Amino acid sequence: MEGRDRGTEQWAARAVGGRLMIAAGVLVSGITALSDLRHESFEPTTRLLNYVLSALAVLFGLLLLRSPGRVPYWLINVLPSISAIMVCIPTAVDKSPSPLGPLLLTWPVTFAAAVLSARTAWITMGVVASAFAVLASVSRGVDGVVLWVEVCASLTVICWMVTRLQAQSNRLRTMLANLARTDELTELINRRGFDESLAREHSRHVRGGPPMGLLLIDIDHFKRVNDSWGHQAGDQALRQLGALLSEMFRTMDVVGRIGGEEFGVLIPDCAPGQAARRAQELCDAVRTRTRDWPHPITVSVGVATSQDTKASPDELFALADAGLYAAKAMGRDRVGTVATPSR
Ligand code: GH3
Ligand code: MG
Ligand code: MG
Repeated sequence: MEGRDRGTEQWAARAVGGRLMIAAGVLVSGITALSDLRHESFEPTTRLLNYVLSALAVLFGLLLLRSPGRVPYWLINVLPSISAIMVCIPTAVDKSPSPLGPLLLTWPVTFAAAVLSARTAWITMGVVASAFAVLASVSRGVDGVVLWVEVCASLTVICWMVTRLQAQSNRLRTMLANLARTDELTELINRRGFDESLAREHSRHVRGGPPMGLLLIDIDHFKRVNDSWGHQAGDQALRQLGALLSEMFRTMDVVGRIGGEEFGVLIPDCAPGQAARRAQELCDAVRTRTRDWPHPITVSVGVATSQDTKASPDELFALADAGLYAAKAMGRDRVGTVATPSR
């Protein structure tokens, strides 16, 4: 999931970078053309550089938007630094800074701070400060040092504020992602998180990884606990069973609450017969260890193993569910498996 998120972010960074490059190219060439129309043309070399660099920016922006896969991600990380140097070149040649130059430098800094990592943002800021130092030192008619301090101080503030906002939004995103995958009552992962783990383990298995086992666990006659002792007692039993499951399985196993009084355990790297054995141990442990709980419970467990079949995650789930249904039908407090459908 994390990998997919990072992939999506990198894709988004290319899309934003592409749009900014096109916008900057159109803006600079538009302003150069406008100054021509108003007979206040740039120096011929600067004018030519403006058009050439604008065209390059637009072409690269189009490439980023149309074929993002052809642009390696390291290039996106150096893109703001290259853009900053491109912004400084015409003005350094012209030697007479216009307000547009420093303003355009806010683009690469903001892009790096908002879309790329904080490290890249500060490296970009270093490149911008160095490029602008060259520009300020060759500029005529201004105090280069004062100009450099004014521009770099403002850009540093922008970089700092945007990286802070970015870090805050990353923290919030991680928190929300965790909340969206956590069951509030038992603090186990919920159905969404469990399904994601199942899909992840399944693709590992399909790529030649070890077989995996899936247990579906349902509390027997749980309605009676609620009806006889109240919902709070039911909630307490769910919490206690969640804790017992976490204790009984390895940290590499995935334990989740996948429905009201239904739990799931995913056993990656599961030797033949291990899933059924673990299911039986679980059934026995719940029966014996809940004897001294205020409201003893038993569970029925359905088992499926990925080595049985080349089933998809959904089919594997359906197989374990059929096993659970069989365990219920056979009188509860037991393990159920169903034969793998022949293909
Ligand atoms: P079976 O052995 O066939 O599974 O019977 P059962 O009573 O466990 O199954 P049934 O589906 O009839 O009832 C499930 C009960 O689980 C009903 C519902 O009130 C209870 N339940 C579901 N979620 C919660 C919860 O979060 N807290 C509490 N206290 N009860 C819950
Ligand atoms: Mg149920
Ligand atoms: Mg039940």
